[in-house]
Amino acid sequence: MKRRAPATAAARTTAAKLTEDLVAANRILAEHGVVDGYGHVSVRHERDPNRYRLSRSLAPELVAASDIMEYDLDSNPLDATGRAMYLERFIHGEIYRVRPDVTAIVHHHSPAVIPFAATTAPLRPLYHMSAFVGEGVPVFEIRAAAGMTDMLIRDAALGRALARTLGQHPAALMRGHGAVVVGADLPLAVGRSIYLELNARLQVQTIALGGDVTYLDPEEVSKVVAVQDYARAWELWKRKALAK
Ligand SMILES: [Zn+2]
Repeated sequence: MKRRAPATAAARTTAAKLTEDLVAANRILAEHGVVDGYGHVSVRHERDPNRYRLSRSLAPELVAASDIMEYDLDSNPLDATGRAMYLERFIHGEIYRVRPDVTAIVHHHSPAVIPFAATTAPLRPLYHMSAFVGEGVPVFEIRAAAGMTDMLIRDAALGRALARTLGQHPAALMRGHGAVVVGADLPLAVGRSIYLELNARLQVQTIALGGDVTYLDPEEVSKVVAVQDYARAWELWKRKALAK
């Protein structure tokens, strides 16, 4: 392994803030029921785009700064020190490899989205908080990639197949499993994960009411997506998460 140049004080501050944000992201997702004992969230390294940070194998609600590990894009650990790793870490490495615009990734089994990966009824953008859904949320069919499996993204080939299905979209559903959500930063990836779950729930409620459903128009979608950063919500979520 190559040695890095010593980090400056400013770089150490940035790294500490990103680690703090990543810890907060884990707890926020748990607080909102997007993850439970399972699921994970990562952030790309602030100085080396070929690395990312992700907790050791642990329930997200329990994650602290000392649990955060670094990985290369092959999802090999750089500082394992005997710590157990998430089996599905390849989701993160393979998406970071092909999506330079992505800095944060959430993988979850958020309950309300599961039905939309199991039927041909598409998830559609029901309201402004989840307008990004209108950019398309493809469904990953693991059978098409690897036949009969235990459903888990347990190697790089499956991670690459999932990344291919995701393409340039903000999220992809995983049939019989969950979803992956990406963003240019942690607030965006976390906010999208929370509102993806809400959109799914609200869409089912709306359809159950009967009548014709009006979804966001593509033009409305692009106008909302251009300005949506979940920044105000993130400030609240983070403060509550770190106060515990
Ligand atoms: Zn999973």
